[in-house]
Amino acid sequence: MNSQATDAPRPTGRAPHFDVAIVGAGPAGLAAAAAASDSGARVAVVDAAEQPGGQYWRHRSEAAGVPEGGEYHHGWKQYLALRARFDSGIAAGRITYLPSTSVWMARPVAGAVSGAAGASGAAGASGAAGAGAGSPGPLASHPAFALELTPAHGGGPSPVPSIRAAALVLATGGYDRQLPVPGWQLPGVMAAGGIQAFVKQNGMLPGSRFVIAGTGPFLLPVAANITQAGGSVAAVLESASLMGWLPRAHRAAGVPAKGIEGAGYVAAFIKNRIPYRIRTVITEILGTEHVTGVRTARVRSTGETIPGSEREITGIDGVGLGWGFTPQLELPVQLGVSTRVDVDGSLVGIVDETGLSTVPGLYLAGEITGVGGAPLSVLEGEIAGRSAASSVLGAQGAVTASERRILARNRGFAEAMHLAHPVPAGWADRLTPETTVCRCEEVSFGELGHAHTELAADDLRTEKGLTRAGMGWCQGRVCGFAVSCLSAGAGAVGAEAVPSAESAAHSLSQSAKRPVAQPLPLSALRDLQD
Ligand SMILES: Cc1cc2nc3c(=O)[nH]c(=O)nc-3n(C[C@H](O)[C@H](O)[C@H](O)COP(=O)(O)OP(=O)(O)OC[C@H]3O[C@@H](n4cnc5c(N)ncnc54)[C@H](O)[C@@H]3O)c2cc1C
Repeated sequence: MNSQATDAPRPTGRAPHFDVAIVGAGPAGLAAAAAASDSGARVAVVDAAEQPGGQYWRHRSEAAGVPEGGEYHHGWKQYLALRARFDSGIAAGRITYLPSTSVWMARPVAGAVSGAAGASGAAGASGAAGAGAGSPGPLASHPAFALELTPAHGGGPSPVPSIRAAALVLATGGYDRQLPVPGWQLPGVMAAGGIQAFVKQNGMLPGSRFVIAGTGPFLLPVAANITQAGGSVAAVLESASLMGWLPRAHRAAGVPAKGIEGAGYVAAFIKNRIPYRIRTVITEILGTEHVTGVRTARVRSTGETIPGSEREITGIDGVGLGWGFTPQLELPVQLGVSTRVDVDGSLVGIVDETGLSTVPGLYLAGEITGVGGAPLSVLEGEIAGRSAASSVLGAQGAVTASERRILARNRGFAEAMHLAHPVPAGWADRLTPETTVCRCEEVSFGELGHAHTELAADDLRTEKGLTRAGMGWCQGRVCGFAVSCLSAGAGAVGAEAVPSAESAAHSLSQSAKRPVAQPLPLSALRDLQD
């Protein structure tokens, strides 16, 4: 379904009703949709992207008929199998798919909706909405959920402005965690995930010769895919030492597929002669109109740069930066889900083993329960989708012993990964007063420091009010983590500012409270029906 800008009035009348609504069609959302549909539920899937796959299985345009062989993907066969289940749910009229559509607000609404006949107003969505109405299940007396929708691309009203569901699965994934570095506002500097998404979606590169820097295993597929797409990688700079894996080797061994994937990257690095430097960071990105090089330095485990270790890498036109991922929690927070701080310092939603959050009828799956990669997201989605459907229809949705085992192993691996690849101490010491921290509003490190030391700004919200950091188009999604760390840092912003993940996450939880989760036209507010 393509959403087009139009001034036509929005369809009125009751919002289409479903047993289960799922937000996100990435690994977690796709699996949740397939499982809920296989359980006999009437399912709606809303996703901002034009086609299913999420970040991990982002691929070339199906609408343009570009053949996709899965060459940039891991687990492509798993995607095809999930997609077949998803597509057959659509063909059978059990899944109504709303692509290119953002959920900008989620809220509880009174009344039973399970089994309500019809999904009027869903014209244009993929799937025969309204088919397969069942009888009200156990959730009938619980509050249901209303999702307000807006086109993800372009203006105008959404053809389906709102949907309701008895149970809701949120699988909204995450975005790249970024840290500022002098020069990172230059054209050619991208999030590592942004480069990866560009290659997967377009089959081409946003540059030709790159340096990839940050921390974590995710830097490896980004570099490998660059060479696969015909580019070159001057270096991959990993801030951690990798010794952090040693005490946790047993957890890595618990997920052998990750080891096999890692061995593939080693082979690709050797074949393409990609230097992999540990305990090394970018201290400055060089260039005037566009990135041309980087300054690098080796760092101690305590974060200080080692004098004399500075180097320059020139002759590049692209830099990819990645410090892990930040779960996208606006919708869970809107609905009142309890959160916790995960080992990587991210704010994540609290769930039980079925994916049920602290809000009745609301399930979470994938990165928003803790960043752990696609295979874990798929399993969580499968369990959450099945459990959500059974909570509405009264069927069996128990977690099997084998699922419990695989969940535990993957969670263990994810925890080991986060502990072995922490955001390094000392990153703030490499900023200069002129370094831009909030790129949307062009707020510098010096301005943030002034607000912190002179005006006592010690959380993201106060920094935002005093400096406009996080107030631009991305609403703090790019700079939010860094500003939170800087404002929460003990003492002055500068050499003594040791970011505390705990207090930064507290600050982040404030900023995750966004009454409007996605950009939307003002007309969508005007047309709200209740
Ligand atoms: C840019 C990027 C690239 C990545 N590439 C890789 C990779 O190559 N390899 C790897 O191992 N990991 C990668 N990751 C990590 C990856 O996100 C996860 O491992 C995996 O995709 C998580 O699955 P998920 O279903 O939880 O979320 P995602 O795959 O992120 O899917 C979430 C979906 O929710 C949709 N969504 C979010 N909010 C809304 C809303 N309000 N309304 C409607 N739809 C919404 C999004 O459009 C998206 O399709 C990448 C992450 C990012 C941010």
